[in-house]
Formats: sequence, structure tokens, C-alpha cells
Amino acid sequence: MTATSSLTGRKINRFTHLHQSAEDLIKKVEMQRLLGQKTASCFQRCVGMDAFNAVYSTTYEIDEKYGTNYHENFRKFLIMVQDQDLTVDGAMTDPKGDRSKAPHEQADPDLFLHIVERRPDGIVVRGAKAHQTGTINSHWHIVMPTIALREEDRDYAVSFATPSDAEGIFMIYGRQSCDTRKLEEQVGMDVGNPAFGGQEALVVFDNVFIPNEYIFMCGEYDFAGMMVERFAGYHRQSYGGCKVGVGDVVIGAAALAAEYNGAEKASAVKDKLIEMTHLNETLFSCGIACSARGCPTKAGNYQIDLLLANVCKQNVTRFPYEIVRLAEDIAGGLMVTMPSNKDFQSSTIAGRNGETIGEFCNKYFATKEGVSTEDRMKVLRLLENLCLGTAAVGYRTESMHGAGSPQAQRIMIARQGNIQGKKDLAKDIAGIEK
Ligand code: SF4
Ligand code: FE
Repeated sequence: MTATSSLTGRKINRFTHLHQSAEDLIKKVEMQRLLGQKTASCFQRCVGMDAFNAVYSTTYEIDEKYGTNYHENFRKFLIMVQDQDLTVDGAMTDPKGDRSKAPHEQADPDLFLHIVERRPDGIVVRGAKAHQTGTINSHWHIVMPTIALREEDRDYAVSFATPSDAEGIFMIYGRQSCDTRKLEEQVGMDVGNPAFGGQEALVVFDNVFIPNEYIFMCGEYDFAGMMVERFAGYHRQSYGGCKVGVGDVVIGAAALAAEYNGAEKASAVKDKLIEMTHLNETLFSCGIACSARGCPTKAGNYQIDLLLANVCKQNVTRFPYEIVRLAEDIAGGLMVTMPSNKDFQSSTIAGRNGETIGEFCNKYFATKEGVSTEDRMKVLRLLENLCLGTAAVGYRTESMHGAGSPQAQRIMIARQGNIQGKKDLAKDIAGIEK
């Protein structure tokens, strides 16, 4: 969880680290798996770490071409982040409006975040970033472009850091399935995961001033694609860690549900748990593989193997769905039909012999000796939370769309897949002239 800063030599939180080796990239994935296991939700800090590494290497290459001072700006900013262990949101995704149009062609120019004013001391920006994980609990934001850009979109090629409470920034909080349960009286075990949970928001930048010292890209549209690709690559690697850790909890909860039912020895249950483990460890293998094949950037920090990172995330758009399907299969329908905690605790008399509602709940949901009904319900509520409730945002739908939707990875796989090289291999073997 800690590392030695390549910038200061001081001991820092690994979430603020610039990866210095393939081993560092592997440790990142292991850290994320561990935190997924400990929180069973999205723990929010990876987007900042992934932005640091992408912006560090990209600013180096912008300066090399244009003689700008962005890399130094970024180094100074990151030293502050490391020394204070600040949480930073890496903000990339613009609302995007009409998908068939470039940023400058949109009816409303604010549908992609852009520069609206250039001043001697800085710039003013307007727009929004959508689906922002970790935004409400971040001290600072790093903003990056959302797609590769052309010259006409020069004003959209902008990257900077800003404190989250800068004038003009506000957040519109996202809803999640079952989110109001936490506000209910006597909710108890119905929350499923009482201690943890992630959240997302739409972050609006309503004419926000950014001083020069926090600007990392300002019009260099030809580097927008590089920043996007690198950030997305790191975040696709991340999913080979965090989702695997949460998957460990899903598998554990399914195994417990079976045990509490007295079904753990059934061969069908055992086989489903094997299948879930196989799928989960395949995701981990992808996270480790793209890290192990990491290589240094021109700036010196390490980058993942982009093809393998995209393959990793592509698998993440599929396997958690199958893992959840098997977990629901093992859990049984009770996961979605069981009474509330309030009913389990109820002292209202309902039976002819004076039994309470609570007593009936406990009587009819009892299973084998030694298993409390409450524990059985708790594990089903945890599974409900992971499969359908607030944690499902982080485990299921985020597996699909977080770090880029499936088609975004397929574009990268097409770009990195080297089909021409493979054709040549086939020609060699078949004896076809090249
Ligand atoms: Fe980290 Fe995963 Fe959440 Fe992204 S989805 S911030 S990688 S825990
Ligand atoms: Fe994410």
C-alpha cells in the first residue's frame, strides 16, 4: 500500500505513485484486489492514480515537441498530492451529446468541456464530466480530454488540476438502486454492506478559472488521443484487480449461502463455485499479464501492455455477469423475496398462540442447526447488494461501462492486434510469397 516516491524519495501512499517498474504495476493490481476484498465496492482512488501516470508521461512528450512547461507543472502538483496524500478524481468522460458529431459541431458547445477564455494568468473552462467515480470524496480533480481530437477541436484539448471546491464547480449526485435503504429506520441487515459503497456524480464546470501552474495541456490537440489511450489503458488494467477482489466476496457469499442451506456438499454447488473461481482468476491473470509486460515511457514511469490491458477489460465486461448469475443461482429466490429486517425484529403478535411476526420469520427461514436465521439473511442481503443493489453499480454495470464501454476496447484491440503481422505468419507457414 506504500511506495517510495520517484520525485522526492519519501514514503508515499501507493495510490499517488508513479509506477517505476513492471513490479510496481503488479503491486498496483494486487493492492486493488485486496481493497476490493475489504470493501466489496468501488473504493474510488484508482482514477486519480491512473490519471497521474497518464498525465505524467503525456506532458513529458508534449513539452518535448512544443517546448511547453506542462511536465514541470505536473511534477510540482504531484509532489503536493504525494506529500499530503490527497485523493484526486481523474475526470475524463464528457457528456458527448450527439455521438455522430465532433465536439465543435455540437449544437451546445458545452457538451464537451472546453476553454472559453485565455488570460495571461490562466484559462477559463466550461463543460461537465459525467459518471464521475470518487468525485464527491476527492480533494482535487484532474481533467483530461475524452477522445482523440482534430485541429478544429483545439479548445477541447485541455488538461488541468483544480481543487474540488473551486468557484464554479458543483456536483449533481447520481441515484443508485436501493440507495435510500441506508436512510430507513431499523434498516439493520437490509443494507447488505453497511460500511462501504461507492457513488458517482455529474460534475459541472461553470466557467471555472484555472491558473497557469495547474495547466497540463492547452490546445495541443495532437496529444489528446495519447492521454486518453494511456489513462484508459491504466484504468482497464485496474479492473483486473478491483473487480477480482469484489468477485472474491461474491464467491465467498455464495459459498456461505450454500453452507447455511446445508447444500455445500452438493456437487452442482461445488462445480458452480469452481466455475466462478475460474472466471475470477482469469480476470486477475489478465491484470497481472498486462502489468508484467509493462515498459517504460519516455518520461520514465511504466506503462502497461495496452493490448493485454484492453483484453483484460473486455473480459471484465462479461465474466462478472456470469459470476453474478451463478451467485444468484446458488443463493436461491429468497435473496429477493425475504422479509425486511423490521419484520424479523417485529414483536407484533400474529399467531394463535401469541407468536410474533419476528418469531414466524425466524421459524420459517431457519435451516440447519447451528446457523442463525439472521446470519443466513445477512449473507443473502450482501449478495442482493452486490448483484442488484448499490454495490451492483460498482460490480456489474461498472464492469460493462467503467474504463470505457466494450466497443472502446474492441477499437483498441483492432489497433493493437497486428492482423497484418499475423497474415504474414500464415503466409510463411503456407509458403505464400509476401
Ligand atoms: Fe478503482 Fe475499480 Fe473503482 Fe475504478 S472501479 S476507481 S478501478 S475500485
Ligand atoms: Fe471505474
